[in-house]
Amino acid sequence: MAVRLGIVGVGKIVRDQHLPVLANHPAFELVAAASRNATVDGVANFKTIEALLADGPALDAVALCMPPRVRYAAARAALAHGVHVLLEKPPGATLSEVDDLAAQADAAGRTLYATWHSRHAPAVAPAKALLADTTIRAVDVQWREDVRKWHPGQAWIWQPGGFGVFDPGINALSIVTHVLPRPFFLREATLSFPANRATPIAADLSFTDADGLPITAAFDWRETGGETWDVTVETAAGTVALTHGGSRLLRDGEELAAAPEAEYRAIYDRFAELIAAGRSDVDLAPLKHVADAFLLGQHKTVEPFDD
Ligand code: NAP
Repeated sequence: MAVRLGIVGVGKIVRDQHLPVLANHPAFELVAAASRNATVDGVANFKTIEALLADGPALDAVALCMPPRVRYAAARAALAHGVHVLLEKPPGATLSEVDDLAAQADAAGRTLYATWHSRHAPAVAPAKALLADTTIRAVDVQWREDVRKWHPGQAWIWQPGGFGVFDPGINALSIVTHVLPRPFFLREATLSFPANRATPIAADLSFTDADGLPITAAFDWRETGGETWDVTVETAAGTVALTHGGSRLLRDGEELAAAPEAEYRAIYDRFAELIAAGRSDVDLAPLKHVADAFLLGQHKTVEPFDD
């Protein structure tokens, strides 16, 4: 029987990805939505998750797609109601609340799935396999995009808990923590905050692993010349480039893997697998690096940003 799903926080990512994938996914039946200002055609609609859980159709699972700051209370209510929970990335506004959700899910015997969509980009698995078998000498991440193009009208990204440029930057961190064979640690960071905003518009990060492997990352929302979502790895066997957000893999310029993007289909495949197996998947490594950047990073004030 299909998993009866409710979707919460109907905004850009729900319209761009979740709804098209759910329309064709055999393991899920979308039966309801909860959003203060938006509705989904053909399903029962509610303003809040509390109303959905209290008065809506029977549900097996919810996908929580609102901004991270308001996800904890919703996830807790859903788990207490006995439904499985999918969290959009980033899984929460703090590490401790996501830890608590994992404990709640365990206690309730329900699945909690903290998704990292970029890990499902088509060249990420081949990159991980390639890097497992080679000596890595240096890693550089360039994650640059135009905030006006990719986050139009999203006030929450500039509010505390909205992550600023780490909202896309955590996608890069989700890839790098997945493809590199060993853990790594932040050594230095500079976070650039517009004078009128509470979250950074740019971040420069410098990590090493226990053996001193240098890993640098630049996240920047001020790029207006087209987006760059690239990870470049210098290895003993040549330069490995994971480009276009993990969609293409090249070594010394030769293409090794490329495929059309199907990240959200893979996310819902994985959610169905986890529910069937009675397991959770909550990897906090990318969120830990963001928290470290806010702990260790030097804060720089830059010119005000206006939408
Ligand atoms: P969005 O367009 O702003 O949509 C989020 C929706 O959540 C809003 O439309 C809003 O709908 C609802 N919401 C509930 N409480 C809210 C609050 N306190 N403040 C603002 N909105 C609230 O954002 P999005 O781009 O879909 O991003 C949502 C999540 O998905 C984020 O964690 C983001 O990182 C992740 N994501 C986004 C993308 C992307 O390309 N945009 C890609 C992958 C992942 P109502 O007003 O109707 O309640």
